[in-house]
Amino acid sequence: MFRDGALLGPADLARLDPQLGDELDRLEDFFASVAAGISDAAHPAQHPQAAHYDSLSAADIVDQLELGELARLFATRNMQGEFAAEPHEVSALFVAQQRALYEAAATPHGEVVAQRIVGGVSGVTAGLASALPQGMIRFGETVDAITIDETGAHVRAGANSYHADQVVLACSLVPLRAVAFDPPLPPELAAAVHGLGYGRVTKTALQYPERVWPAGYATTTGRAQRVYEPTVGHPAESGILMGYTGGEGGTRLADLAESERMHEIELSQREMYPALPPPLGGFSQAWSGLPLFGGSYAVYRPGEITRFWDVLRRPHGCIHFAGEHTATWTGYLEGAVESGETVASRLLANR
Ligand SMILES: Cc1cc2nc3c(=O)[nH]c(=O)nc-3n(C[C@H](O)[C@H](O)[C@H](O)COP(=O)(O)OP(=O)(O)OC[C@H]3O[C@@H](n4cnc5c(N)ncnc54)[C@H](O)[C@@H]3O)c2cc1C
Repeated sequence: MFRDGALLGPADLARLDPQLGDELDRLEDFFASVAAGISDAAHPAQHPQAAHYDSLSAADIVDQLELGELARLFATRNMQGEFAAEPHEVSALFVAQQRALYEAAATPHGEVVAQRIVGGVSGVTAGLASALPQGMIRFGETVDAITIDETGAHVRAGANSYHADQVVLACSLVPLRAVAFDPPLPPELAAAVHGLGYGRVTKTALQYPERVWPAGYATTTGRAQRVYEPTVGHPAESGILMGYTGGEGGTRLADLAESERMHEIELSQREMYPALPPPLGGFSQAWSGLPLFGGSYAVYRPGEITRFWDVLRRPHGCIHFAGEHTATWTGYLEGAVESGETVASRLLANR
């Protein structure tokens, strides 16, 4: 943790605030206790007190538990990192649902492991597409209107129009808000499509000729929020420091030009590691500023599990929704795949 001009390790933090570890444990214990009431992570609204916990935010829980300043800071950074949102923007029931999911996944696999996809994530979709006949997947066309009649759906993408018996909308809900539906979606569904929260992450990578930083993840009170080295284990002398900035901090950075973002993050990294040489280069990506994404991934805000969870997972006539925001593994690649399998099974079963 970088705070008040000093890098603090676990022992420094324990000296500074002997309650810190206990307070963070109490917070996780609270979410674990709510998670214990979720018998199936695919249906969090079936929790016996779903409406109550969904009405509360993670910030409300932090207040109820009367966490101290340092524990609040860690809790905030954890929410900004995990949910790409501020604690007041995350439903307490949603946090518990994610904890229930991890708990359930940890049992068959032993533990949940993080992995990188060599060559980038697009390799997954390219690999899936390669199994299909050529030309079946059409790239670079943006759906802008969907008309439903007794014959099915007419999908317009710019100058092109397609007729379909069934339509699977697998994009984030933010770009979907610009798609014209005729007839309009029913009010409950339209409210979910237009209302669901989205996290904001801005990632800024800077490459330095030497690695003058200690290994590991660092949390900072500075603008970068979280700084880590994605090049750990890479043999080169130079290395990359990533700034992972979520929630309101991510939005603030998204409003700047890329060069300004890189400058801000360099300053934030430099106050942590004053010996940093000038960077060799870098890039910054703000998902909230990309029209076809409009955010990083879904975050169910207070009240949104009870209002939006089920309606987004039901078909509307020949229209089916897929994507991480409709999955049990919301916010993850696993969720994107899971939702595709769910909709594909439904379509095959109804053939
Ligand atoms: C910074 C960041 C870090 C992440 N880290 C992880 C991680 O460590 N592990 C993990 O599992 N997940 C992570 N995720 C989440 C993961 O990337 C998403 O959950 C996943 O990509 C969602 O896949 P999807 O298919 O639902 O949606 P998307 O990946 O958003 O795909 C939807 C596609 O629809 C297209 N589209 C949008 N609008 C239209 C339109 N009108 N017409 C036609 N096409 C359209 C888009 O161009 C896009 O290609 C991270 C996300 C971000 C932003």
